[in-house]
Amino acid sequence: MTIAITGATGALGTLVIDALLERTGADQIVALARDTAKAASIAAKGVAVREADYDRPETLDAALDDVDKLLLISGNDLTGKRFSQHTAVIDAAKQAGVSLIAYTSVLGAGTTTLPVAPDHVLTERYLAQAGVPFTVLRNGWYNENYLSSIETARQTGVLLTNAGDGLTASASRADFAEAAAVVVTNENPEPVYELSGDVAWSQAELAAILSELLGTEVQVQNVSAEEHAAILEGAGVPEAMAGFVTAVDTAVAFGDLARDAGGLGALIGRPTTPLIDTLRAAL
Ligand code: NDP
Repeated sequence: MTIAITGATGALGTLVIDALLERTGADQIVALARDTAKAASIAAKGVAVREADYDRPETLDAALDDVDKLLLISGNDLTGKRFSQHTAVIDAAKQAGVSLIAYTSVLGAGTTTLPVAPDHVLTERYLAQAGVPFTVLRNGWYNENYLSSIETARQTGVLLTNAGDGLTASASRADFAEAAAVVVTNENPEPVYELSGDVAWSQAELAAILSELLGTEVQVQNVSAEEHAAILEGAGVPEAMAGFVTAVDTAVAFGDLARDAGGLGALIGRPTTPLIDTLRAAL
């Protein structure tokens, strides 16, 4: 049984490989990377490394040779290429005759208002009609997404948001990576897993965590999406990024990142990692 992981040199992929190494032999894992030079530490663990670039379909056939199961980690392109990148991998996996494609999607795909959702929804639909057995890991937000809040709060004493009273059930990347390893080593995975952290926290609770970690009071400043974007742009944040940040907060206000708390913990068989633990470890 050979399990291949795309995006193996990324933050999630690296953790998936470590989680897989705890469950199966290194000789059963293939790390797929667009830049194999970045994969030296993975190769040092005895894992085979092959080149696989979503933008160069000619690399994908050889990359997927003799692969039984494929974990397709969604790409990080922000220029609208992700869907075509994903379809290239799915087409190559079908051609290679893989027995399972697992895809990392987004929590609540199909109903969420998160700005990253459209590419995931399109990819899920493409996968469902590809004629290859599949499973979808609809991942919620990483705890690590809030690492940047530490530095901002340290400098300003403020947690600026337009998320209102919305809740976020985040978990650590390692939790999501472990879930992916569990699913791809499972004989009969479900078609869809909605995955999020055990604890859904508010912006006020995030501010309390930041206050505790920084040893100084951090206050929530709740503003409209328009005001939030204007403040960010005034501080030099590019318009597109400001729009992304405020759209995520709007989705949080709708409850889109608080859904199905508990599913991830059930899959990995332990409580998910609390936000404060991830942030404290980073400090
Ligand atoms: P990273 O940005 O660390 O990893 C993305 C991986 O995709 C990298 O390994 C990168 O390769 C690889 N990649 C990008 N373009 C290509 C390409 N053309 N061909 C092959 N590989 C490519 O993100 P994470 O690991 O943290 O997260 C994984 C995915 O989850 C993200 O790509 C994104 O879709 C999504 N995400 C989820 C978040 C969440 O909170 N749930 C937050 C942020 C993203 P290289 O190592 O060479 O750069």
